[in-house]
Amino acid sequence: MTGFQTFYDFGSLQRFISSKPSISNVGIVPTMGALHVGHLSLIKRALNENDLVVVTIFVNPKQFNNRKDLENYPRVPENDLSLLRQYQGVVACIPEESDVYPKLDPYPGITLGMLDRVLEGQYRPGHFKGVAHVVHNLLYFIKAKRAYFGLKDIQQLSVIKRMVDETRLPVSIIPCETVRDDSGLALSSRNLLLTESDYTAASIIFKTLDFVRKKIKKEQPEVVKKKATELFNSGSLKLEYLELVNKNTFEPYTTGDVNGVCCIAAYCNNVRLIDNVLL
Ligand code: AMP
Repeated sequence: MTGFQTFYDFGSLQRFISSKPSISNVGIVPTMGALHVGHLSLIKRALNENDLVVVTIFVNPKQFNNRKDLENYPRVPENDLSLLRQYQGVVACIPEESDVYPKLDPYPGITLGMLDRVLEGQYRPGHFKGVAHVVHNLLYFIKAKRAYFGLKDIQQLSVIKRMVDETRLPVSIIPCETVRDDSGLALSSRNLLLTESDYTAASIIFKTLDFVRKKIKKEQPEVVKKKATELFNSGSLKLEYLELVNKNTFEPYTTGDVNGVCCIAAYCNNVRLIDNVLL
């Protein structure tokens, strides 16, 4: 393949793919841009497993339940494109909102059940409805064989798996490990909004998650949750939730569950951060 390409509509991307007989497996990495090393790890994994990787950049208005959050979301498209340019086998797709949500919208809607009522579902009403809708349409219009998502957004991953099951889209969903900095803080586009001292303070998130991971084998979940909450509150972030749940159903965690996960959401000044560890 020669030269890095960016497509601004699905039609021209599809024509490009159809014109290359050497491309039989397409991987897709949906993002909202402000790319960091976490995104790049998904891209590298996708490159290993596919002939072509499409990285979409679309800040999806439907998944923001707060207008200020949408306005403040970092947008650095030039920077994103220069990062992507280094990878042979990657193309960028930056669609218009009217392309993602055409008048004849193909999304049939799905039932989110419990996933939409707890943790992120509870605190960000409408968020997962917007996530399921955008990911459905991206996967519907860009016919990829595999789609890559980060475990950092573990509840989102469950929503997407359910959406793909219900709508029977012919795509495999591939979960990818969370990439962290040296302090344990999960990389996130929102970290760009943190000051240097916020950044240091935010390391309490991973410290607390790590505490839960170590203690949960020895103590009752309620006791671990109480101690972990105390530890978290010794820092300066404002806790929204700290919950131990099953990573598929998001029902409360019970001792011995091999699919347990501890999830945290917290505000560091006005920046909302989420993270989790498997138990
Ligand atoms: P976003 O641009 O934040 O919507 O993220 C796009 C994809 O990258 C999602 O599947 C995220 O879960 C994933 N992602 C974000 N941060 C990380 C990280 N630190 N490590 C691994 N994947 C991540």
